[in-house]
Amino acid sequence: MWKCPKCGRAFQNMGQHHFCGESPNTIEDYIAEQSEEVQLRLRQVYAAIKAVLPDATEKISWQMPTFWKGRNLIHFAASKHHIGLYPGGKATTVFADQLTEYPTSKGTIRFPNHQPLPLELIAEIARWCGQENAK
Ligand SMILES: [Zn+2]
Repeated sequence: MWKCPKCGRAFQNMGQHHFCGESPNTIEDYIAEQSEEVQLRLRQVYAAIKAVLPDATEKISWQMPTFWKGRNLIHFAASKHHIGLYPGGKATTVFADQLTEYPTSKGTIRFPNHQPLPLELIAEIARWCGQENAK
């Protein structure tokens, strides 16, 4: 846990990039708070996940855009130099072979801002999260 010294909000990730104002309540609001360049990338990630998890509830959880169905399925978030995808620790193990190009730690994948987004892979991971949850 990390607490922003400016606004006092708590985040899961150290130095989490955010807007120190009112908390966004929807994924759209969250995206709208980011820079234009980041917004474009976030919208691509959002659309890729939404397409494969159409019946999940969308919300902000842990200050991050979240797809939820009985529990959190997957989160994504903008940081200064990357977009983070948080599909859970099992997913990063299962997809490890396809994630070698991206900085990955247990439960966290970082897509650097200077690299194209692997949207098909993101969709595949999100779909897997939905299938795992349905088991
Ligand atoms: Zn803050």
